[in-house]
Amino acid sequence: MSLIVIGTLAYDTIETAHDKREDILGGSAVYFALASSRFAPTAMVGVVGKDFKEEHIGALKAAGVDLDGLEIAEGETFRWSGRYEPDWNTRHTLDTQLNVLESFEPKVPDQHKSSDYVFLANASPEVQGQGLSQVEQPKFVMADTMNLWIDIARDALVSLLARVDAIVLNDEEARMLTGEDNLWVAAAKVRELGPKLVVLKKGEHGAFLLAEDWKFSVPAYPVMSVVDPTGAGDSFAGGFMGYVAREGNTEPATLRQAMLYGTAAASCCVEGFSSDMMDGPSGAEIDRRHAELLEMITP
Ligand code: AMP
Repeated sequence: MSLIVIGTLAYDTIETAHDKREDILGGSAVYFALASSRFAPTAMVGVVGKDFKEEHIGALKAAGVDLDGLEIAEGETFRWSGRYEPDWNTRHTLDTQLNVLESFEPKVPDQHKSSDYVFLANASPEVQGQGLSQVEQPKFVMADTMNLWIDIARDALVSLLARVDAIVLNDEEARMLTGEDNLWVAAAKVRELGPKLVVLKKGEHGAFLLAEDWKFSVPAYPVMSVVDPTGAGDSFAGGFMGYVAREGNTEPATLRQAMLYGTAAASCCVEGFSSDMMDGPSGAEIDRRHAELLEMITP
């Protein structure tokens, strides 16, 4: 089943308590596609500048990502810089340079307008909405967002939520969006805004899914050495949506397994800087961790 992601490609500068890397490959759509393409053919819609390196185009192509919807515009690629506190849970955005994103209007290539599964990766809700409008009859649409958009584009985000089937948020974003401290109550309030499914990520404490009449909760995969959590959320979404697209349905049993595959993909991502793991998590390793997680939650 066809899967399309609309989101950002970036050069990130990341500071952790142990290391600093400059201008490494990142972006919401990149992390997503490197994980989702392990499960299902993935097409990407996004923009980069003329400075985007050939080796990074090569890495995405080698992973099997369809780049027909990648625009190469005059100017520089989007840049984002962040710093993590030693506990990994607190991330400070140090700098955001929109560059070519400033005037970006996503264009879904004709051959991908019939995509069944759509992931609106972190980008402005306006860009997400423009991208979604071009997909003709999607079967299942999931969106991501971040604190910045809840802060500066809340109305556009709330309008977008009414148009999607599912949203994936982290704990901080869910609290910000709803004003609720209790995460189950926050998730229920997000459901009232439109999405039938709310997936809430809690970092090292795992993730849960809230649907109309059922819930599912998974622990995080036990990672012994976190190197850089950037992209964990996008990799989670990539594992989740990739699995759903491969199975071709959104039955509760499929969504439960998707939660496990997303968790497994995210755990691979946090073990290195993106530049060390440019070809993304291996399918075999995701499968191995999925099996281990299943064992962990089965009595
Ligand atoms: P995550 O750690 O899953 O939240 O995703 C991190 C990625 O999001 C980084 O590679 C950034 O390049 C990208 N990113 C940061 N800020 C934004 C933004 N405002 N819009 C879209 N993507 C962003």
